[in-house]
Amino acid sequence: MRRGMLWVLGAGALLAVVVGVGARVPAVQDAVVRAAILRLVASQPNELFGEDALRVLLCGTASPLPHPSRAKACVAVFAGGHFWIVDTGPGSWNRMALLRIDGARIGGVLLTHFHSDHIGDLGEFNLNTWVMGRSGPLRVFGPPGVERVVTGFGEAYALDTQYRIMHHGADFLPPAAGLLEAHPVAGPADGTGPQVVLEENGLRITAFAVHHDPVKPAYGYRFDYRGRSVVVSGDTTKDEGLIQAARGADVLVHEAQANHLVALIREAAASAGRPRVAKIMGDIPSYHTSPVQAAEAANEAGVKLLVLYHLTPPPPVRIVEWVFTRGVSQVRPDGWLIADDGLLVELPADSSLVRTRQLQ
Ligand SMILES: [Zn+2]
Ligand SMILES: [Zn+2]
Repeated sequence: MRRGMLWVLGAGALLAVVVGVGARVPAVQDAVVRAAILRLVASQPNELFGEDALRVLLCGTASPLPHPSRAKACVAVFAGGHFWIVDTGPGSWNRMALLRIDGARIGGVLLTHFHSDHIGDLGEFNLNTWVMGRSGPLRVFGPPGVERVVTGFGEAYALDTQYRIMHHGADFLPPAAGLLEAHPVAGPADGTGPQVVLEENGLRITAFAVHHDPVKPAYGYRFDYRGRSVVVSGDTTKDEGLIQAARGADVLVHEAQANHLVALIREAAASAGRPRVAKIMGDIPSYHTSPVQAAEAANEAGVKLLVLYHLTPPPPVRIVEWVFTRGVSQVRPDGWLIADDGLLVELPADSSLVRTRQLQ
């Protein structure tokens, strides 16, 4: 071995020893931890709130089946200085908090329907955005029935809310601002077609009906802001109404269920003597959309980018993602991806650019 290489190896070993010994010295530990905390506390991705673009953040990409790192259904849309949450699936507030999103700037929540994988974290969103400084009640839009969901979460968190007001003071945590406020959206449920939910700060949000029987009504939402647009499917079969609502949109965030993988789980459950799992796996193909069908819907709507989320089953490793999306490239060679939690899609105002990156 050459002398130069020996020297490098020796220096590397010495450095490893010094670092290893140093990490056991309390003063060194304190300095490292203090620097890490400072970096975490000081860093908020405030550029997401810039009014120069419509932005979409995937805050939950799984379905009811468990996954070690994906939260359940959640899509955050940033526009006009606020963010809007489509569905509050379990674990999704944790994802937002890990990404250090400023909860005080929440505009509202839009529920697509009331399956538990879409509503489980509503109480966490309400509580935490209030604690972070939200100035008024949290508006929750959704199909008729949203009143019951909101009343129930409000009651479940009522004692927690009291404790926090007593502990931190009503000046710091104004009780009136901590409330949930239900806003039922009736139009799509009545069969009268898509309905504008609100128009604020240049953002228009429209609700439309999708098919997720026996869950009725179930909605998807379209966001339009400064010449850019994104559509979120919620849970649905391949749906003509959704294709109409998504026509010409920049981004379609669509649920996807790989029925060929669901069939494998059903077969395995049956042979393993788990009939309840096999029964559920046999029932669910009837009310979701396969990845290939989602690609067909994206093509028919003419969107630029298809983002697959609400993944059933949520792929644990890349090789399963390849199996999950088998056949998609034949239908739609470009302009699609399978989302991880933290995926950000940026649509600069009044342009045709579509940028994607992963937030950490
Ligand atoms: Zn559902
Ligand atoms: Zn679902």
